[in-house]
Amino acid sequence: MRNIHLATVPADGIGPEVIEASQRVLKALAEVDGGIKFEFREFDWGAQRYLRDKEMMPADGIRQLTSGGFDGILLGPVGSPKVPDHVTLWGLLLPIRQQLQQYVNLRPLRLLPGVDGPLKGRTPADIDMICFRENSEGEYSGVGGRLHQGTDHEVAVQSIVFTRSVTERLMRFAFEWVGSHGRKGVTNVTKSNSMQHNMVFWDDIFKEVGADYPSVKQDHQLVDSMAVRMVAQPQTIDTFVASNLFGDILTDLGAALAGSLGLAPSANINPERKFPSLFQAIHGSAFDIAGKNVANPIASIWSAQLMLDFVGEKELSTRLMNAIETVVREREVRTPDLGGKNTTQEMTAAICAELQK
Ligand code: ATP
Repeated sequence: MRNIHLATVPADGIGPEVIEASQRVLKALAEVDGGIKFEFREFDWGAQRYLRDKEMMPADGIRQLTSGGFDGILLGPVGSPKVPDHVTLWGLLLPIRQQLQQYVNLRPLRLLPGVDGPLKGRTPADIDMICFRENSEGEYSGVGGRLHQGTDHEVAVQSIVFTRSVTERLMRFAFEWVGSHGRKGVTNVTKSNSMQHNMVFWDDIFKEVGADYPSVKQDHQLVDSMAVRMVAQPQTIDTFVASNLFGDILTDLGAALAGSLGLAPSANINPERKFPSLFQAIHGSAFDIAGKNVANPIASIWSAQLMLDFVGEKELSTRLMNAIETVVREREVRTPDLGGKNTTQEMTAAICAELQK
């Protein structure tokens, strides 16, 4: 019997509902399989805690994650209208990504069969991309400051940091993943025409690492024209690597192409497995629908599927992906974001039932 030990942080808004959905599905999978068990330890971190204790997570929060023997972390969306976004982000998610060295943010962007995306005439075969976003530095390194505050010569400086080792390892991870998951090509997304130092450095590293993978198709695209290409010719994109900021923006565009924010998962990966990796839906805490049992749980459940793939449970991860796809394709049970009337719990139950078939 394999025990998978997971930290869960339901966090804010619709977080508790979608994390519970992921846990239910994993438990159903364990029941069907018989050879695996999931153990969960929950942490009450997030904006609610901040409003009470003035901290998003305890001072030793990172230590709790690194010393708990966790195989992974399932995190809900973080953020609340009552707390500034930079406080919630820098109080929880960004320190975790940086200190657990989760420098790869892997985001599948797919139009699932049965979903009507916003692009007319596009089929699931056309929109099937993976983004490998640098996740620990770049534009979000937090290096900078404000000077002469409150005066008319106030100045703000924020630096973009690219480290050779991190950039190289991100790219190597992408090329290896492409090879092991039957994908064909990697597009390198930068803005090296106007950012001639850091982005050209990034391009150079892409070429160096890419030379070790001659069988993988490689091309380059400036970020602005990448946005156009994702809409106008999505079928020409297989996977892409991008910096923290560019990846952030392009994956939101990708989530929109997938038809709903409720269908976009992500994995924050420490490829060396020195620290636990973190799996989280791309969407925000969506307070407009929180507590109403209408949130689409698929982004969160799909993130748990990425966890299964990362911990080496390939067969279970394929089984779970097939169940998600079947439920979405059959259109019988769907949450309001997909045009249906079903609840979060009904959609979750449908996926569990599919697993049990
Ligand atoms: P953020 O937390 O990023 O500041 P947010 O809480 O508004 O943003 P977004 O992820 O930007 O959340 O989502 C925008 C809107 O999309 C939400 O207000 C909600 O109506 C809808 N939405 C997001 N996620 C889901 C989901 N899982 N299921 C259904 N609708 C969703």
